[in-house]
Amino acid sequence: MIKSILETNFAGKKVLVRVDFNVPFDENMQVSDDTRIRSSMPTIEKIIADGGVPILMSHLGRPKGKVDAKYSLEPVAKFLDDNYKYIVHFANDCIGEPAQAAIEKAEVGDIVLLENLRFHPEEEANDPEFSKKLASLADVYVNDAFGSAHRAHASTEGVAKHFKEKYAGLLMGKEVEFLSKVTENYEHPFVAIIGGSKISGKIDVIKELMKKCDYILIGGGMTFTFFKAMNLEIGKSILEEDKIALAKELIVHAHEGWLNLVLPSDIVCGEEFKNDTNIQIFDKQEIPENMIGLDLGPETIEKYANIIKNAKTVLWNGPMGVFEMDNFASGTKAIAEAMAIATQNGAVTVVGGGDSAAAINKFGYSEKVSHVSTGGGASLEFLEGKVLPGVKALEM
Ligand code: AMP
Repeated sequence: MIKSILETNFAGKKVLVRVDFNVPFDENMQVSDDTRIRSSMPTIEKIIADGGVPILMSHLGRPKGKVDAKYSLEPVAKFLDDNYKYIVHFANDCIGEPAQAAIEKAEVGDIVLLENLRFHPEEEANDPEFSKKLASLADVYVNDAFGSAHRAHASTEGVAKHFKEKYAGLLMGKEVEFLSKVTENYEHPFVAIIGGSKISGKIDVIKELMKKCDYILIGGGMTFTFFKAMNLEIGKSILEEDKIALAKELIVHAHEGWLNLVLPSDIVCGEEFKNDTNIQIFDKQEIPENMIGLDLGPETIEKYANIIKNAKTVLWNGPMGVFEMDNFASGTKAIAEAMAIATQNGAVTVVGGGDSAAAINKFGYSEKVSHVSTGGGASLEFLEGKVLPGVKALEM
């Protein structure tokens, strides 16, 4: 049983909160995208409103177990201090004396932010002693870092063992709730849209979805490995030679009536891999040898959009084309739009992190779907049906 922070009151408690403040910086070491910070503010604010002191811990980048100023969380402390009404006490080490001192200084209404957990190799090693030192800082543990929940690290897994009281933060709770709606409590028709550059990395998700979905709509670069498996010519399109056999296997399953695996029928191709290039649309049987497949064609877009609009549950992972280039963004944009319409029609619609989350943000539809996951790897593993160590560790 996992409890939400809404089921408790933190008055008078020191609360160790695992957040995901792995944010990007600009060249002046200023936070350039604060989405991850904003996403955890409701959890932080609930703790403060109750009269507790949030002690925030996070990783940032890959400092490989060594102190490296480039990966310090100090600019994040400054960002919090400048942009929110709370006083932020920054500890230049996540354990020991510096952490203790910052916590002692903090009054109710303040925030403590600990330095990057990954300055210690023990974090990623899930070292029991290190976990114990982290746990000694607080009375209660909260995990709000869904994006790190697929990793059994000290701050996401080991530390939880030392607390009687542990809770899912509001972001973590929302992620688990919505991702469960597409893994367990889904309604039919259930449509998954799977894209991205490659099949590798998505095989387990596709196999899992094959058991559940009424349609799996394929797009993006992985389309061409499927086409190759069907003996179609794909020109200079991206191909995973070593996944052709697997693509064949999936198509065979589909023909056996396992599911409705849908592939594009027409493709927008470019002569070169750049926005300003000679562009033409071809049927899937007619891709010439000098062209690269870069987006869904209009016929496919219409077909996919219709299937999505009539669904009751929709899950999307991976862009339908090279959406970073305007001339090859139509397929991806149309999926985002169809999902917004499906949501209006009462469907549960979930975008599974990573590039599709970036895409739906770019096209302005993120508020118009039920849920956009903040975790790339974590949401993929959740969708594969795996139990995430960071989620399991919260069981009381
Ligand atoms: P992934 O990381 O595998 O989810 O792939 C995301 C990337 O796939 C995005 O950066 C897209 O630009 C890229 N992508 C989508 N469609 C294609 C395509 N037809 N050819 C090459 N790359 C693509």
